[in-house]
Amino acid sequence: MTIADAAAAPVPAAATAPLLRVNDLVKHFGIRAGLFKRQTERVHAVDGVSFELAAGETLGVVGESGCGKSTTGRCILRLIEPTSGEVWFEGRNTLALDKDQLRALTRDMQIIFQDPYASLNPRMTVGSIIGEALIIHKLTRTPREYEDRIVELLETVGLSADHMRRYPHEFSGGQRQRIGIARALAVSPKLIVCDEAVSALDVSIQAQVINLLEDLQRQFGLTYLFIAHDLSVVEHISTRVAVMYLGRIVEIAPANKLYTQPLHPYTEALLSAVPIPDPQVRRKRIMLQGDVPSPIHPPSGCSFHTRCPIRQLPLCSTETPELKRSAEGHWVSCHLRG
Ligand code: SF4
Repeated sequence: MTIADAAAAPVPAAATAPLLRVNDLVKHFGIRAGLFKRQTERVHAVDGVSFELAAGETLGVVGESGCGKSTTGRCILRLIEPTSGEVWFEGRNTLALDKDQLRALTRDMQIIFQDPYASLNPRMTVGSIIGEALIIHKLTRTPREYEDRIVELLETVGLSADHMRRYPHEFSGGQRQRIGIARALAVSPKLIVCDEAVSALDVSIQAQVINLLEDLQRQFGLTYLFIAHDLSVVEHISTRVAVMYLGRIVEIAPANKLYTQPLHPYTEALLSAVPIPDPQVRRKRIMLQGDVPSPIHPPSGCSFHTRCPIRQLPLCSTETPELKRSAEGHWVSCHLRG
């Protein structure tokens, strides 16, 4: 697809002017095999993802493992180079930036990783982990100012000044994730990609970290791309939710719409697995048949047709459904719904 085509592609929009606009993002990974390590096949990790994100909004991105949600987040931050597409941040095409401009951009866009055990250097003190970005971006002028800023960041995330000289192994999973959040906040970013940021934590700790992220959003006007593999995790934090399947967005809607009137059969199946707090209310669980197909050879037509309980053949196996607008802010990719 050309840049002109990408600009013409429909983009599920945020309610106000976007901070981030992603146009037809594609990431294919080559697989090399044989004696000469020739590229033999391609993994279609992300296959034409488009959306907008307004300042102060939280877009939840949900889907089973391997659906391309983390790759999408990493391509936006250019931790991975996309194969094609466009990423616009505050009106600038980030894929056209040079190294210096990109370094400046990392101040505005940060990431919190899934594994608080693996993402913190075990040989560095918590103070050095949080302070690293302050040094790289020259954000403090004196040692005193540097230390005061680290203490301020620790206290902002619910830790204390005396944690500064300790090492990551001395902390629980939830506390480590707070350290990861403080590290992201050090450069006063505008957008934070939370890449399965709470998935490795116990449910009660998950709730504490989500509450903290919501408080920080209010305090600092942050915008989140909140990636998770299940809909229950993103329910309370998201303004809108995008559901991904095999590298594509299959449904995107305001959170309340998606949870009460889902359109795509895949969203319905994910939603049927979300527990309801009221024991009087029972939801019929939709069990999908089979596993997610390989992203090396995604199914023809609608990529969900091999598991879809309402598929209509041959339509669904031969024609790829477009992501169509069904109602204000509600987009779905299905021949039979919307
Ligand atoms: Fe199911 Fe067909 Fe809709 Fe795909 S297009 S979700 S296979 S009904």
